[in-house]
Formats: sequence, structure tokens, C-alpha cells
Amino acid sequence: MVTVYRPDTLEQALDKLAVGEHTLFSGGTDLMVRHSARPGITPDFKHDVVFLDAIEELQHITPIELESDLGTEAGLQSGLCQSGLCIGAGVSLHDIEINPLVPDVLRQSVANIAAPALRNRATMAGNICNASPAADSLPALYLLDAKLVLSSIHGQREMPIANFITGPGRTCLHQGEVLTHVVIPKADLPVTFYHKVGTRAANALTKLSVAGLAKVEQGKVVDWRVAFGAVGPTVVRSTVLEQKIIGQPVEMLREPLFIENILSGYSKVICPIDDQRSTAQYRHRASLNLLERWLTQLA
Ligand SMILES: Cc1cc2nc3c(=O)[nH]c(=O)nc-3n(C[C@H](O)[C@H](O)[C@H](O)COP(=O)(O)OP(=O)(O)OC[C@H]3O[C@@H](n4cnc5c(N)ncnc54)[C@H](O)[C@@H]3O)c2cc1C
Repeated sequence: MVTVYRPDTLEQALDKLAVGEHTLFSGGTDLMVRHSARPGITPDFKHDVVFLDAIEELQHITPIELESDLGTEAGLQSGLCQSGLCIGAGVSLHDIEINPLVPDVLRQSVANIAAPALRNRATMAGNICNASPAADSLPALYLLDAKLVLSSIHGQREMPIANFITGPGRTCLHQGEVLTHVVIPKADLPVTFYHKVGTRAANALTKLSVAGLAKVEQGKVVDWRVAFGAVGPTVVRSTVLEQKIIGQPVEMLREPLFIENILSGYSKVICPIDDQRSTAQYRHRASLNLLERWLTQLA
């Protein structure tokens, strides 16, 4: 038999997690499916369960001043300002979706997850830690260079989301640790692209998704990013290929040869699989079509 804990503070949760193995439970929308043999049967958890939903410290979305080197020349060139947003791990997807401080690309991604009832319960922390290749918040978080704050009884560490997720269902989270906050450096990237391909418009799991951010100034692309979901073991983002577009005049995005060259580069890094939701061939083709749409939208 497992024991269930519902701490009121992070300190209580970390004390509990310091001894033995536990299952962390936020909204439970992934866990209840994973641990239920079939509908109507009580879920079968192997370890004691720690509910995180009563921890007040994790329920806020707060603007912050970042201490890192975002004021350096490199930081300024990439459009970063010396501020960001801190999203607590207990914030529901719904509260992220409706918060005007959250970048549009992330709000759109989250608004495309499942249906309202689920978004009222589920968290972005759960979406991240579940580490599904099809998790809808991830492409936007990769684009925004999100950082994750991981806490344990021994202290805190921070890491970029791209380092945290190591494969389908796999992360760098250590035993005794909990994801407490997602930090999004503020970025001046006003042009947004987001498209999720599913079987229907709402309440559908992702066949593939494409998210983009850009800034165009005086006819020149000063920043450009794209990330793909569900077309590889983790999110696909190539900063090397992005450099081919950054610095180009926008007219270049009307040149068929230039576009072809970019599509050919991405064709090699997108490596989807066949599964029950779609085929590798469809995912590959549709990703490149959406990439072309994103590029030509700026022209
Ligand atoms: C009907 C249905 C439709 C869905 N549709 C979509 C969809 O369209 N797009 C999509 O991306 N997902 C979808 N999902 C999956 C799921 O709802 C999301 O991944 C959701 O964001 C998970 O959040 P949660 O809070 O419920 O996570 P939980 O189920 O509570 O946890 C998920 C995993 O993360 C771990 N975890 C949770 N919180 C923390 C933390 N703070 N620190 C460390 N580890 C933690 C848990 O231990 C578990 O391993 C769907 C699920 C269902 C049942």
C-alpha cells in the first residue's frame, strides 16, 4: 500500500522527498493514465505519492530581474532584456493561457493542449517532466530558452530546458528533486508563428507542431527561431540553421533557391517515426510545409 502526502510548503515537500522514492503528483493528468490498468480501476502507484498542488509558493507567475549576464553585448544582440518571467510549477495550464505577461507563443501552445477541464487541472511542470516528444508546451519553451529551477533539500540548480530533457520520457531530475519554477528570459521577438497538427482542432494529441519567433528591423531579419515538436525523440531546434536566416534581408525569404536550401537543411534534422497518430513521411512533409509557411510569412 502506498502513502499519500499533501504538503503545504515546499520545505515540507523537500523534507519528505529526501528519504526514499516518491511519485510527484501535480495535476495527475499524465500519471492517472499511466498508472491505471483500465477505466474504473484504482490507479496502481509503486511509490508513496507527494501531491504538489497545495504548495502556495509554486502557484504564481511573477516578473523577475535576472542576475545572469543578459546585459552583455551578446545578450543585447539577441534581443534579451534584463528581465524575465518566473512561472511556478503549480500554475495550471489555464492560468498560463490567460496571463498577458506570458509570451504569446507559449500561451498559444498551452491553449492547444487537450480541453478546458484538463487545462484547469494540469500544469506545465507536468508537461515538461513527462518529457513526451509530443508535449505541446515544449517547442515554445525551447524557442524562449527557458530555464528550469530544480530544488532539493541540498539546494537549487538551474538548467536550460534543452539539457533537462534527454529523451522520450527521460529527464535529468534527480531523486529527491522537484521542478519548482520555469524561468523565461524576456525576449524582444514580436513575430510569432504556431501551428499544431492534430486529428481535429481541439482535444487532439499532436501529430507534429511548429513554433517560431522572429524580429525584423528595417527590412532585415535580426532574430529568427523555429522549433518542431513530435518529429524526433525530443524537440528539434537548430541554432546553426537559424544563423543562416539571421542577418538576411527579408527579400531573401522570397527567393525560391534560398528557401529550398533552408528546407533541405531542416529536412536532415527532422527525424520523425511512424506511430498510431501519424506516419513519419507525413510528419516530415507537413513540418517542412509549415516551415516554408513560417519563412514566407516574414517576406
Ligand atoms: C485526455 C488527455 C488529453 C491530453 N492532451 C494533451 C495535449 O493535447 N498536449 C499535451 O502536450 N499533453 C496532453 N495530455 C497530457 C497531459 O495532460 C499534459 O502532459 C499535462 O501538462 C501534464 O501535467 P500534470 O500536472 O497533469 O502532470 P502529472 O500527471 O501530475 O505529472 C506528469 C509527470 O511529471 C512529473 N511531475 C509533475 N510535476 C512535477 C514537478 N513539479 N517536478 C518534477 N516532476 C514533476 C510526475 O511525477 C509525472 O512523471 C493529455 C492528457 C490526457 C489525459
